[in-house]
Amino acid sequence: MRCIAAGKGEIDSMYKIRNALARFMYGRNGVDQLNVALLWGYLLLWIPQMILAMTVGSVILDLLLDLVRLAMVIALFFRIFSRNLDRRRAENQWFVNGWWRMRSRFHGARERYADKAHKYFTCKNCKTICRVPVGKGKIIITCPKCGAQIQAKT
Ligand SMILES: [Zn+2]
Repeated sequence: MRCIAAGKGEIDSMYKIRNALARFMYGRNGVDQLNVALLWGYLLLWIPQMILAMTVGSVILDLLLDLVRLAMVIALFFRIFSRNLDRRRAENQWFVNGWWRMRSRFHGARERYADKAHKYFTCKNCKTICRVPVGKGKIIITCPKCGAQIQAKT
């Protein structure tokens, strides 16, 4: 019979490694949302790359995608071990903001598409989205935000 559980020596060295790693990572950026996205980008880009290699078969395109993925990995490791926390936080915030804007735009567009009782118009002046009930014929909408008038057919 062999003992499967780790011996005291192994636990000790595991603890030492974890301790050393924690010391090494102290004051460094580590894994933030942008780094997670870079990792996913690196992994997921591999799928279209494989498909393109099988269909188009362009050596240059393949090399280009290799370079993009390599750049992602370099950026990932650079950002994990970076000590310039202000810059890294600003980058991450920029990424998270952009991501949320994209998400809410997508959700908004889906909701407007599903809403068959209203028509939506974007004000040319201030980009506010105005909602009007369907079936009113030709109308003039006054933007609630800036007062500009939009001619619309519902
Ligand atoms: Zn407006």
